[in-house]
Amino acid sequence: MDESYKKPKRQLYDNCKLFDPDGKFLSFISKNKLDWYVAKGIVTSISDTEIKLTFYPKGGKKGTPFMDEERPKDNVCVVCGEDDINELRRARIIDVNFKKVFPESIKSYKCDDVIIVCNEDAADVDSCCGQFAKQIFKIYNVNPKDFDEDKLFKQIKILVTNIIKSKGFVTEHTKKKINEYFGYDPTLEQMQEWIKSIQPKVVDGCTSPEELVVKKVIESKQVKEFFNLWKKNFVECMEPDCLQWDFFVDYEDDANVDEIVTS
Ligand SMILES: [Zn+2]
Repeated sequence: MDESYKKPKRQLYDNCKLFDPDGKFLSFISKNKLDWYVAKGIVTSISDTEIKLTFYPKGGKKGTPFMDEERPKDNVCVVCGEDDINELRRARIIDVNFKKVFPESIKSYKCDDVIIVCNEDAADVDSCCGQFAKQIFKIYNVNPKDFDEDKLFKQIKILVTNIIKSKGFVTEHTKKKINEYFGYDPTLEQMQEWIKSIQPKVVDGCTSPEELVVKKVIESKQVKEFFNLWKKNFVECMEPDCLQWDFFVDYEDDANVDEIVTS
């Protein structure tokens, strides 16, 4: 049998090494995570693949079985420990619709919301994340329904879009509905202009409920708290057995995360 067939397409973890200030081995980390530590300015480089923290970490998960320097074993599902690399993938613990509306400065700083899970657990992680989004809206007092468009308007928009896609094909029934809405018989060009002129519904300067939540998070300087809510939700929901040791580590400069937005 061709052995190359079994080889993983990519390495999920690069097994770079992280040490404490005394040179005590702490954890294997990915190259991305290494770059993240370097960008935060809280490590000194030992080599291209080895870094040393400039402070003693507090709050790291105790007793993780994957901290043995001789056994690089971070290529495991954080939930169940599955270690077949062909069964592993990346997953987000924060709903992507929230993450993507953060300013770039925060997005690159707070990149520790990506975890490794097995394909079997991935769907559960996605669903526990999606469920939590509803709670987040409640916590930040945002009603997604406020962003809903008028029902008839939405329906006409879909009909007109379909007519444009089919280059003007329209059934009599649809034509009647559209003419009623417009009050005249619009040409294809007029319908194209109409679609182009539609502005998204804006509430408090935001075009989506996620954007409004993030706006409130930033204004109330709760960036760190916001990310921790998602982390705690993931832990409560999935009860992971093999969490990365530094999942809940408090970085000293995390206190300043809210300043990054404005600087
Ligand atoms: Zn798993």
